[in-house]
Amino acid sequence: VLRDGTLLGRRAVRTPRTAREIVAACAEGLSASLASAAESSRFEQPTALGISAPGPLDPYRGVLLDPPNLDRSLWNYPLAQRIGDQLGVSAVMAVDTHVAALAEGSFGAAVGVPDFVYMTVSTGVGGGVVSGGRLMLGADGLAGELGHLTIDINGPVCGCGARGHLEAFSSGMGISKAAREAGLGEMEAREVAAAEDAGNRLAAEIMGRARAAFAAAAVSVVDVFNPSRFIVGGGIAFAQGDRLLEPARRAVRDFGYHRQAERVQIMLAQLGDDVGLIGALALVHLAPLGDDGYL
Ligand SMILES: [Zn+2]
Repeated sequence: VLRDGTLLGRRAVRTPRTAREIVAACAEGLSASLASAAESSRFEQPTALGISAPGPLDPYRGVLLDPPNLDRSLWNYPLAQRIGDQLGVSAVMAVDTHVAALAEGSFGAAVGVPDFVYMTVSTGVGGGVVSGGRLMLGADGLAGELGHLTIDINGPVCGCGARGHLEAFSSGMGISKAAREAGLGEMEAREVAAAEDAGNRLAAEIMGRARAAFAAAAVSVVDVFNPSRFIVGGGIAFAQGDRLLEPARRAVRDFGYHRQAERVQIMLAQLGDDVGLIGALALVHLAPLGDDGYL
C-alpha cells in the first residue's frame, strides 16, 4: 500500500494453524505481493509493516495474548517481531477492530473527523474509539470492546461468560445461537435474516431483538463518548443497512442526551474487504507520531 492509500499488490491465502506456519505463510505471501507490486512504476521499497490481527493482543509489545479462536502456539506469541524479522522491516500490530477504525479515519467515513466511534457488527461485535484524533487504547491496549456493553443484566450469556452483552444479541454468533435455542436449527445470521423476510415469526423476533439491542447500545455509545460520527461496519451492518441504523438513530433522538444526540451522525462504514490493508497503513503512519511510547 502506497502512502496515499493506493493498493499495489494483494495476496490472500488460507490461514494455517500454528504460529510457525502462519509466519511462513505471511512471509511468502508478502514476498509475492512485493514481487507483483515491483512491476509498477510507482513501487518503492517498504519502510514498515502494519499488521491487523484478531485480539486480544498487546499493541505496545506486538504480542498476541490468548485469542480464543487461534491455535495455542499463538498465545503470548510475538507475531509482529517474527514477521518483521522475516521481511527485514519494523512491524507494528493492532487488533483488527482498531485497525478498521484507523482506516475509516484515514480513508473512509471519518476522514477529518477527530471524534468518532467505529463498531463492527459481524460474527462478533467489536469497536474502536477515536477521541481528539487519537485512538483510545487503554492501559493494556484493549479499550473499545463495545460488543461487551451490557444491554440486559438478565439477558443471554455472552461468549465472554457475562450476561446480556450486545454481542450476545446482535452478533452473527448471538443470532445463530438464538435461532438454535428457538428451535429453528443450525442457521447463520444471514439465513435468520432471510427467514424473517420470508415471514418466519421466530426469526423476526430474533432479528428485531438484535436491532433493538444495537439501538440501545447506540444510545450508550453516543452519551458516553460524544462522537461526531458513529460508524458501523461488518457483514451484518452492511446487509441490514438502514434497517439496523434507523432504529438506532430514532433511539438516540428519543433517549440520548440532547446535545450529543443532535451532534452525532450514525452511518455505515465506507471501506469493505480491504479495511485491514488500508488500516495497516494508517497504523504505520500513526505509530511514530506517539511521543508517549505508543507502539
Ligand atoms: Zn461479552
